[in-house]
Amino acid sequence: MAYDRNNIFARILRGEIPCQKVYEDEHALAFNDIRPQAPVHVLVIPKGEYVSIDDFAAKASPAEQIAFIKAVGAVARQLGVADSGYRILANHGVNANQEVPHFHVHIFGGRNLGRMLPRD
Ligand code: AMP
Repeated sequence: MAYDRNNIFARILRGEIPCQKVYEDEHALAFNDIRPQAPVHVLVIPKGEYVSIDDFAAKASPAEQIAFIKAVGAVARQLGVADSGYRILANHGVNANQEVPHFHVHIFGGRNLGRMLPRD
């Protein structure tokens, strides 16, 4: 899948759409999810153009990948959930119902999140 430069997170990165920024460094940006599903629900995105975790894993440089993982950890510590615990989640593709085609990691925390996936 080709990267869509008009996806909503690309527009946030370009400053065309506002976000509630919680963290930024050379390689990553983090902001509050617009529809939070936990007391802490933050999205961490790389600044590079990657469609999903699959694209990022295949094409990002090792430096970008390391910087991104370090950013996720830094954001969680900054949010104060590193001690109490948190969950990260990245949707890729149709079965995961990925909505925005720019790689992002969700950080959920601030309450007990239960175990793994909800059963339906
Ligand atoms: P996913 O299903 O993993 O692609 O999730 C996309 C997430 O982006 C959802 O949790 C949305 O609530 C969130 N989202 C969509 N638009 C915005 C926005 N403008 N600012 C912050 N979060 C957004």
